[in-house]
Amino acid sequence: MKKTGRVIVIGLDGGDWDILLPLVREGKLPNIKRLINRGIWGKLQSTIPPISASAWVSLFTGKNPGKHGIFDFAKVIVTKNGYRIKPVTSRDIDSLAIWDLLSMRGKRVAIINVPMTYPPWKVYGIMISGFPCPEKLGKHTYPRKLIYELKKEFGKDLHFQPKYSPFDDEEAFVDDQFVIADYVEKVTLYIMERNYEFIWTTFVGLDALGHVLWKYIDENHPRYKGASRKLKQAITEMCIRLDIALGKILSTMNEDDVIILVSDHGLGPVYYAVSLNKWLIDEGFIKLKTNFWTKVKKVLFNLGFTPNRLFSIVSLINLGKKIQTEAYRERSLIKMLINKITLSLDDIDWCNTLAYASGNMGQIYINKYAIQGQQYTSLISDLIDRLKRLTHNDKQIFDLIYRKETLYRGKYLQEAPDIVCINSLQKYIVSRFFELGSNKLIDVHPFWSGTHRLYGIFAIHGRDTYFTSKRRNASVYDIAPTILSLYGLPIPKEMDGEAIV
Ligand SMILES: [Zn+2]
Repeated sequence: MKKTGRVIVIGLDGGDWDILLPLVREGKLPNIKRLINRGIWGKLQSTIPPISASAWVSLFTGKNPGKHGIFDFAKVIVTKNGYRIKPVTSRDIDSLAIWDLLSMRGKRVAIINVPMTYPPWKVYGIMISGFPCPEKLGKHTYPRKLIYELKKEFGKDLHFQPKYSPFDDEEAFVDDQFVIADYVEKVTLYIMERNYEFIWTTFVGLDALGHVLWKYIDENHPRYKGASRKLKQAITEMCIRLDIALGKILSTMNEDDVIILVSDHGLGPVYYAVSLNKWLIDEGFIKLKTNFWTKVKKVLFNLGFTPNRLFSIVSLINLGKKIQTEAYRERSLIKMLINKITLSLDDIDWCNTLAYASGNMGQIYINKYAIQGQQYTSLISDLIDRLKRLTHNDKQIFDLIYRKETLYRGKYLQEAPDIVCINSLQKYIVSRFFELGSNKLIDVHPFWSGTHRLYGIFAIHGRDTYFTSKRRNASVYDIAPTILSLYGLPIPKEMDGEAIV
């Protein structure tokens, strides 16, 4: 590969060809059309499961989660008395990012709104952290003073993290996503005027809207309902908006520059939530305590007094937003309160529990304090056999079931979920807001109507002499090696992917 000028990576959280290509054919996305007519493009396989936290970190390290240590937005810490959730931050990433390697080579880098980069860290250049990020603290840029400069330039309102929850006000949430897209575009173009050799910027609006709005566009969706034109059209409008941003960035390209468009995973409708812990109780893998209060809670749970029901009640009195954010915290008072009054993992007899689920996407963990050696292997086989037999409307729910050794390798393998079970169409996912959200194995998903799919997108476009239109598939692990290859730099052996060009 000849010497490249700048490499500009544009992240499109939730980008999916099934959404984009029909719009390309309709002539609504002329800039994405330009990339695929004159570049190398195709599907980009996400991490399994396709969680943004692990996928973005794999994109910018070139490594699988077993090596960089990020499997989800929270770590599951197993103790003798159960487990607890600890949210992860950039400090938990046990790997250099592509921009660290480039910084060490003396290349000036600008990293803008890439997920999993809070707190920001020192690079040879600048970094503005992406989600999850407590923007209000004003500690989300490197150098720290950059945020003051940006606010002076773009106004005090400048923000990349949403101000509204879709559980409170969907229209305001949608409007805000377009405001954020404007800010990301403006800041990216502003930063690009400077002398940076590597730029990675990320737009997350498509994913944010996709989680909420599929119920208004998919007529087969169990929660399908009519809505304003704004809500029905928002996903399409966001694609058009992002294509315009791409066009503006493309117009700044020099002859030797290369642009890479990537997504962390695909996006599509989700219909049902599977209550895996409820199933594990029914199958005898989770044992509940035998005290009086747990027994009462079990009876109430079976009668329908469940966290999801409680959530819908508090949503009516406008506490929905609070619950949604609180449910992900390490120590959440509201979650602790709900766990006290409804059946929860607090009621589990950990000495006799063999396996439990934690996470949104079919992650099952074996209780290593109760299971050892040979027992582990037979328990995994038993669980997988039973999971394969789970059906809904005469169809298999989880058609992709993996043992962790087939998905990950590296020193963090021990922290990985022991089994990952997925519906390949992602019509069924696990609801993680509460570990025992529902008393039904399958229920219409209580919160989301869209979710991640296994295949995202990529497109690489540079000087015509380098690239002709070529379609091929790749994985999230291939992007970091590709960037090194474009600069003519060696690819470290620890990277799991290979260069696309
Ligand atoms: Zn998402």
